[in-house]
Amino acid sequence: AKKPVTVTLTGAGGQIGYALLFRIASGALLGPETPVRLHLLEIPQGLRAAEGAALELQDSAFPLLAGVEVTDDAHTAFSGANIGLLVGARPRTAGMERAELLQANGGIFGPQGAAINAAAADDIRVVVVGNPANTNALIASAHAPDVPAERFTALTRLDHNRALGQLSVATDTPVAEIRGVTIWGNHSASQFPDLAHATAAGDAVPALLSARLGHEAYREWLVGEFIPRVAKRGAEIIEVRGSSSVASAAAATIDHVRDWVQGTPDGWTSAAVVSDGSYGVPEGLVSSFPVESVDGAWRIVQGLAIDEFARHRIDASVAELVDEREQVRSLGLI
Ligand code: NDP
Repeated sequence: AKKPVTVTLTGAGGQIGYALLFRIASGALLGPETPVRLHLLEIPQGLRAAEGAALELQDSAFPLLAGVEVTDDAHTAFSGANIGLLVGARPRTAGMERAELLQANGGIFGPQGAAINAAAADDIRVVVVGNPANTNALIASAHAPDVPAERFTALTRLDHNRALGQLSVATDTPVAEIRGVTIWGNHSASQFPDLAHATAAGDAVPALLSARLGHEAYREWLVGEFIPRVAKRGAEIIEVRGSSSVASAAAATIDHVRDWVQGTPDGWTSAAVVSDGSYGVPEGLVSSFPVESVDGAWRIVQGLAIDEFARHRIDASVAELVDEREQVRSLGLI
């Protein structure tokens, strides 16, 4: 039998955690052959909810579940961790300044980075879901000097999947036949969902939709509808559903880690990874790129043509990341 993989989930008593746990335990994350051991981290107020989820995991009798541990100690939680899903964060509340938000999250992701550095397995892979996700990943990485920076990533797969969903409807093509969509930049309203290289059932999307709608109408749809709809989908979900997206965020988190570990057979996807300077994104920033997973590591897809429109949009979102990095530096968080 294969040795169990240890998955640490923070914010395990929260909504996204609840949607994630049962899929992980069922094998959706690492496949039907790999047993998993779950470490659930919560703050003291969240412990009872996490303990309740642990009871339900036991009651689900998942054959792949090799054990569940619940703790409020980060060092214990990350002990031996192969995969870290960093979901718990300090959400922005009304009237909160950005510096306050960054400060509060620095107090969470700094110590978690240090705990990962001290206690996690050598092959630890981290994805940050809790917002501001890109900068939280940067903070955690800065506190884990012995862990290669490329093992710290942030989730933009939900944005990517939202773009696939919108494009599927617009082109009347199943999601499985769409390729070449990219989310660039920050997981925030400034993100740039890019269709310049997208194909639907093998046809170039810009040409397909320009032919169908007319070129002007395509550009209007792209700029006035598609991009803002993807970037603001979270707010739309809150408005319609009455609370924030949960199952789709969990599904995207599963997709991100599954592809990272098992590879991307169908072309590229999107993930926020540490920049090596590709596409003019300053080195060291955790920014979303087109990525493929090869031999268990993300690789930024190279050589895509970037037109003036895309350049402007990428630069705007990256400027926001630069600004967040400046702020956490001046707060002494990295
Ligand atoms: P959720 O489980 O719904 O969300 C968790 C985090 O994910 C939020 O910070 C949220 O940021 C973020 N997020 C990212 N993308 C999305 C998305 N598309 N939709 C919704 N959320 C998204 O929050 P809960 O309040 O239910 O649960 C959070 C739990 O984390 C609580 O139980 C709390 O106790 C715990 N916590 C644990 C910590 C720890 O383990 N050390 C530290 C801090 C909190 P945003 O609000 O910006 O959307």
